[in-house]
Amino acid sequence: MASKKKGMSLLWKISVGFVLGILLGVIMGPMVPNSPFLSGWIVPLLNAIGNIFLTLLKMLIVPLVFSSIVVGAASIGDPKALGRIGAKTIALYLVTTAVAIAIGLALGNLMQPGVGMNIAGAVGEAKPSQPLVDVLLGIFPSNPIDSLVKGNMLQIIVFALFFGVAALFAGEKGRRAVAAFESIAEVMYSMTHIIMGLAPYGVFALIAVTASKYGLSILAPFAKVIAAVYIGCALHAGLVYSGLVTAFCKRSPLWYFKGVQEASITAFVTRSSSGTLPITIANVRDNLGVSEGISSFVLPLGATINMDGTALYQGVCALFVAQAFGVPLDFGAQMSIIVTATLASIGTAGVPGAGLIMLTLVLTSTGLPIEGIGLVAGIDAVLDAARTCVNVTGDTAVCAVVAATEGETLTPNDRRPA
Ligand code: ASP
Repeated sequence: MASKKKGMSLLWKISVGFVLGILLGVIMGPMVPNSPFLSGWIVPLLNAIGNIFLTLLKMLIVPLVFSSIVVGAASIGDPKALGRIGAKTIALYLVTTAVAIAIGLALGNLMQPGVGMNIAGAVGEAKPSQPLVDVLLGIFPSNPIDSLVKGNMLQIIVFALFFGVAALFAGEKGRRAVAAFESIAEVMYSMTHIIMGLAPYGVFALIAVTASKYGLSILAPFAKVIAAVYIGCALHAGLVYSGLVTAFCKRSPLWYFKGVQEASITAFVTRSSSGTLPITIANVRDNLGVSEGISSFVLPLGATINMDGTALYQGVCALFVAQAFGVPLDFGAQMSIIVTATLASIGTAGVPGAGLIMLTLVLTSTGLPIEGIGLVAGIDAVLDAARTCVNVTGDTAVCAVVAATEGETLTPNDRRPA
């Protein structure tokens, strides 16, 4: 309850920071060139505040990603025992996530939310895109410590996944390592919360500087980003989840969406997959009739690693940032976004705003300016609601499909006390 209250008030503060920043920027913008006070003091001060916020976000990435992925991978349970169900679940999670990013990228290319923003200073910063084979080869680290030091995110993620799974095979002694990373991950989440507490000021400063340079013309692109993410989420749920349920469960999409609506709505409002998990499990068991065995493995795993909405959002936002900063992204670069965003969404914690932190990972590994975070942060809460709703709904769809392919008949099985 307390954290929910805190979340709401942070959300409110970020929105206020965003609006005030735009107001200040728009009012101050025309005066800056003629005022040594504004150009010599206020703008540099705002720049400093914004950059400190961005640097603190960057500081979180390596330890947060490493520890949370080790814990996520280890939460798979005993891979041998889970065998077939585990493989099926993970394959479905990965495929639906990749499709979600593809939808996000398609909408980003189609709607072009960032085109025309012309934010200067970053043109030409994109890494030259590598052939896909090289991208694939490059994700395996020869020296993981070197990858950590250099912040090579793909290599860090691959090593962390190996580490988590290997820790499981190592039995009791491995569990101690996982427990240590669990503790580190907790500390990193708490550090994330502290730094997110600075978001209203960071967002205020960053957007004020941007608005002072570019005026009100920056508002339309934000509306387009929101539209792209919401349309993408609706398409993904309407096409992919409906399709899966119809094909595998022999049930109508309407029946399925009705069955999980409490979980979907709670996810939208709380913006937390983890927080929604108890309701997700209850809906899937009571309204869809999935067994306890399957739901208690598939759903907690999904709340940790399956984030279709987050992945879709990262696709849209990566293109938005690239367009806003005038950085061209060719086909190869967009393909590498699919790989990075799939992995990033696996490492995203099911808590409000986590996807924004992971967006820094997608941006840096694609060679896009991390300043883009400052653009997205102001509207992130609105995007978070839609993406969390899809994250949770996606878990339930995969759970229903896994149950159906394991021979379960999906019929309501309400065990709630009358
Ligand atoms: N809030 C999302 C979730 O809990 C994660 C994110 O920020 O993308 O699923």
